[in-house]
Amino acid sequence: MAVVVQKYGGSSVADIPRVKRVAQLATGARRAGDDVVVVVSAMGKTTDGLLKQAHEVSANPDRRELDMLLTVGERISMALLAMAIKDLGYDAISFTGSQSGIITNDTHSDARIMEVRPTRIQDALRAGKIVIVAGYQGVSTRKEVTTLGRGGSDTTAVALAAALNAQRCEIYSDVDGVYTADPRLAQAAIRMDVLSHVEMQEMAEAGAKVLNAQAVEWARRAGIVIHALKTGEPGPGTRVEPAPPRASGGVRAVVQRARVLWLSGEARADELLAFLDGHHAPADLCWLGGGRVTALLPLENLHGLEVFAAQLAEKFGGRLEAHTRFGAVSLVGDGLGASHATLGSALRVLAEAGHPVHHAAHSALRITLVTDADAVPAAVAVLHRAFLETPAAR
Ligand code: ASP
Ligand code: MG
Repeated sequence: MAVVVQKYGGSSVADIPRVKRVAQLATGARRAGDDVVVVVSAMGKTTDGLLKQAHEVSANPDRRELDMLLTVGERISMALLAMAIKDLGYDAISFTGSQSGIITNDTHSDARIMEVRPTRIQDALRAGKIVIVAGYQGVSTRKEVTTLGRGGSDTTAVALAAALNAQRCEIYSDVDGVYTADPRLAQAAIRMDVLSHVEMQEMAEAGAKVLNAQAVEWARRAGIVIHALKTGEPGPGTRVEPAPPRASGGVRAVVQRARVLWLSGEARADELLAFLDGHHAPADLCWLGGGRVTALLPLENLHGLEVFAAQLAEKFGGRLEAHTRFGAVSLVGDGLGASHATLGSALRVLAEAGHPVHHAAHSALRITLVTDADAVPAAVAVLHRAFLETPAAR
């Protein structure tokens, strides 16, 4: 029998009726004759709620304890879903990340999967069970419970699909695929049928939340096709797969980070990098040299920002400034590095619309423009209009 991995995001299991609906969908796949592994996220905004509680207790919550807390969210949904499936007359069993053999490094709250040893899952499938796995979590080689960074249930699903040699890896959420921009910001955004792993990974690194960057990276390396679909509404969705040939290398999507941590000033590069690594704060982009540094850091896995900023100030004094009033808008597309034309037009479009650009970065896959956080939504809209809504742009 073919193995199918289905992942359901937080909104798809937000309440009991929705958990029961996912139970129906999983048993439907089982009835169709597949071995079914279901990866679940925490219910609705559970993870945000747990994080809030942690920050009420401590401004800089201990990372190990934070992971002990955050992993509870997915354990709730996995157990409830297993119960619901059993009530439908199917055999099911739930496993934590550790029981599923998800082995990670020991970077608490943003761990990376090193290896997957899914023996318990394979045994359970052989015994005819539907297997439910708590997403977003693993266990380090030191036997500590870890989490995989925000949105990390996707990574669990892809890593399991690879380890189980699954025939399909389906990521279900409340949107019906991957769009050319966040449709709340650019109303004319359209769903893409197919997208390459490299482009999707770049979109995720630049802030797109629809799929997790580490998940796409894993899929790219393992050659796994990810199918992004809407829960309960069969439709074409978006397939993320090894680079399909494309005629031209234009802009494929506009992606934003509503807010970033922006570091700029004087510091020794090696000292700054060691500081960031010590705080498990990977930069998305950085420029180093001549005693000057500029770095853009995502905020979602940087728990305890105030303490981080205070320690940064202590170490580097007033020579290095840290701001959170900026955001970043990126144009993503394989082949953008071919010329500077796109960057030139993007700068012109933003200038004409009156949005400041404090910094611009250009690579083969992406152009990132740092602007005021307030300007991000409007900047996404004008850039989408300029590059993806005119016939010439397509
Ligand atoms: N529950 C976690 C989060 O909210 C993981 C996930 O949803 O994938 O980030
Ligand atoms: Mg999620």
